[in-house]
Amino acid sequence: MSTNFPTRAADGLRNTQQRRNLAKATNTIRGKTAKVTAELPDWEALREAGKAIKREAHAKLDQYLLQLEEMVTKAGGHVHWAADAAEAREIIVRLTRQAGTDQVIKIKSMTTDEIELNPALEEAGIRPYETDLADMIVQMAKERPSHLLVPAIHKNRVEIRDLFRAEMGEHGTGLSDRPPDLTRAARAYLRQKFMETKVAISGANFAVAETGTVGVVESEGNGRMCLTLPQVLISIMGIEKVLPRFDDLSVFLQLLPRAATGERMNPYNSLWTGVHAGDGPCEFHLVLLDNGRSKILADEVARETLHCIRCSRCLNVCPVYERAGGHAYDSMYQGPIGAIVTPQLRGLEEAGSLPYASSLCGACHEVCPVKINIPQILVHLRGRVVREGHAGKGEALAMGVAARMFGNQGALDWSLWAGRLGQKLLMRDGTLPWLPPPLSGWTLSRDFPALPEQSFRDWWQKREDK
Ligand code: SF4
Repeated sequence: MSTNFPTRAADGLRNTQQRRNLAKATNTIRGKTAKVTAELPDWEALREAGKAIKREAHAKLDQYLLQLEEMVTKAGGHVHWAADAAEAREIIVRLTRQAGTDQVIKIKSMTTDEIELNPALEEAGIRPYETDLADMIVQMAKERPSHLLVPAIHKNRVEIRDLFRAEMGEHGTGLSDRPPDLTRAARAYLRQKFMETKVAISGANFAVAETGTVGVVESEGNGRMCLTLPQVLISIMGIEKVLPRFDDLSVFLQLLPRAATGERMNPYNSLWTGVHAGDGPCEFHLVLLDNGRSKILADEVARETLHCIRCSRCLNVCPVYERAGGHAYDSMYQGPIGAIVTPQLRGLEEAGSLPYASSLCGACHEVCPVKINIPQILVHLRGRVVREGHAGKGEALAMGVAARMFGNQGALDWSLWAGRLGQKLLMRDGTLPWLPPPLSGWTLSRDFPALPEQSFRDWWQKREDK
């Protein structure tokens, strides 16, 4: 089924409660991130450094990945290569079965959502438990995440209380909607899972080629529990996450928390290198996932997409995301980054409407901590949608007519004359509140500006004649 952004966005626009929840949450995060990024005098230099490191890592990606494999193996870990989502699912299900368990605990990971791991585990008779609070809420509600970092951003605390009461058994009985009570109930519910589960599955924010170190940063501490208590740890990461040197972490450990949640530092920064007797899991597996990333790397304009550190700052400043809501993107990657990454991962035939989910205002580019030029990539992908034949027939026809009209002065003058004449029938207070199809899509939710009596060309000519 294809991802139809306009239809889904219309649903989001009608959901006034969701719009209120989103506006409140994104406004708060925007304020916090703006304050803590402004207080660093070298913030711009850090952004440049982050971008340069990503460029270097991706220019020699093959070398750095092989080095990472060598160092992880040397430290007692195992590396697995997955060309696509199906292969990654098969590897993780097999490893979990080998550990002889029928349940796993999970740390927040967009990559596991990308490969649709949870349904695959359930199908194999293995129950996955999300331990990140927001992910747990989304899992209990049987919904999809609606924000990269705050997957339950569309829900308010009353909705969460009702969910906990319904899903948490004794821990949810008589629960209030006060945040401390909700957190206490979640903690009690999760504690048991941490203690009894043998296998944990995590994503990875970074992996260092030089040392074989893998890292996860988080705010709640649930990740730290998953990374230390179980006997087996399986981590999956997209191949673009590799960093050349251990020192590179110093740049990203500053960029990520400030851009993501407006914190100066993440409360929990976990780094591990292979396995160590008597300390943490005794078995460690790292799954390196391609799943379309090599193809993105081959596109000279769009390859910057792979620089993304999933901070979600672009979502929090995007006027389209704030109004349409995360579910409109039909993907675990939402907002401006979702609008460029999902079509490239899933293909333009399936997700070709997403590059149009933007006003091209440029706010995402302005705030991105690694300076990804998202508007430029959106325009590039729109071009590919048309060139590769995924645009609607009506749109292709309209654009063809427009191209001919704008390329011929006589035809343009005639069209303007006819338009001015025709609009007299439809004009109300200087605007056009209704237009016939296919332009009716525009006037469904806003007026169309009327053609002015004098074109710029006429005005210029008169000015020259004076
Ligand atoms: S594109 Fe930039 S701002 Fe958006 S999530 Fe990625 S790193 Fe953050």
